[in-house]
Amino acid sequence: MVTLTFLDARTCVCREVQPCMGTESVALRDAAGRVLAQDIHADRDYPPFPRSARDGFAVRAADLPGELLVSGEVRAGEVFEGSVGPGEAVEIMTGAPLPDGADAVVMVEHTSRSGDRVRVDRTAKSGENFNPRGIEARQGDVVLAAGTLIGFAEVALLATVGLQSVSVSRQPRVAIVPTGDEIVEPGEQPLAHQIRNSNAASLAVQVRRAGGLPQILPIARDNWASTRMQIHRGLEADVLLLSGGVSAGKYDIVEKVLAEFGAEFFFDRILIQPGQPMVFGRARGKFFFGLPGNPGSTMITFETIARAAIERMQGIGDPPLPMLRSRLTQPFRHKAGLTRFLPARLSSDGATVEPATSHGSGDVAALARCNAFLVAEPERESWDAGDEIRVLLK
Ligand code: AMP
Ligand code: MG
Repeated sequence: MVTLTFLDARTCVCREVQPCMGTESVALRDAAGRVLAQDIHADRDYPPFPRSARDGFAVRAADLPGELLVSGEVRAGEVFEGSVGPGEAVEIMTGAPLPDGADAVVMVEHTSRSGDRVRVDRTAKSGENFNPRGIEARQGDVVLAAGTLIGFAEVALLATVGLQSVSVSRQPRVAIVPTGDEIVEPGEQPLAHQIRNSNAASLAVQVRRAGGLPQILPIARDNWASTRMQIHRGLEADVLLLSGGVSAGKYDIVEKVLAEFGAEFFFDRILIQPGQPMVFGRARGKFFFGLPGNPGSTMITFETIARAAIERMQGIGDPPLPMLRSRLTQPFRHKAGLTRFLPARLSSDGATVEPATSHGSGDVAALARCNAFLVAEPERESWDAGDEIRVLLK
């Protein structure tokens, strides 16, 4: 039995799992959510010319304050043919190239114009209100590194440097095997003592959010033959997720069946709640996670531990687990020793957080109603109303 703290479990996953998915090329419109497999270089200087950041007048800073002769105009997409001489100004629009001779732009709001004259009553600093050529990036610079998760701003940068397609990591195929004699599929009418399979549905969403391709397999029953068959199939994918069957019950046989496949176990218990009996290992060259079956445990252990493996495989070096801090609306206590994740409601501005009513990690309704999880550190036992506490967004 190997028991790890929450942080050590994450560290263990990040140490064991290396980028391994190979690459493929995708069009820019399909790149969001994927992980870059190549460095991206600037194809030219950015900005490629000294670019005005304001509508106003291109001037020589040393001429100000004073009245200047407006010798012309330059719009975005044009080039001013002449140059700005002493005592002169050129009317300029945002995005237009700064004319030769000018070293600053004065905002139109700070000027008064009459005919071909413009009056500026304030001083200007050389370099004000324009971006010099190459200040954002030099031609050839790495502007995005391999291993970056592509979002909307990254796509904007790819478009800026003229790429129509990029090399990204292939997406891991993630087999999901629910286990349990009491579980029926959501389309079935359960008997009074049966429950519908919700874990496959939630895991599939979480896997997609992590960049993986979920593949839901049939429910493994709590017997050797059935569990063996689904694990065998699941190990054909790139990663195997099992839910249920990893606690100490007589019919929790997942670990024993995995051992039959020659599995190596990195840990099989973590000091978190929900989710203590969580298994991570490798069999037939594939990583697997045995997640505890209570819906809250499955969700939390995937989100906080297993997700990092799927991200690492795609080349994300340091998978993020962003938490914020918010102020409790009421006192909160827990028993020290475990890192606890509890359903909570975070206010829309993030300033305050309230523990949600929940009847344990099987309470799917409470999990669906909450929008965040309180994260109670293992070292601390009590918080007063108004104290800061960590919060994980749902
Ligand atoms: P286990 O980890 O197998 O002991 O299961 C713990 C609890 O989670 C039991 O109440 C199970 O009925 C429930 N459970 C297990 N698998 C699922 C599933 N796929 N969907 C919903 N609940 C489940
Ligand atoms: Mg079970």
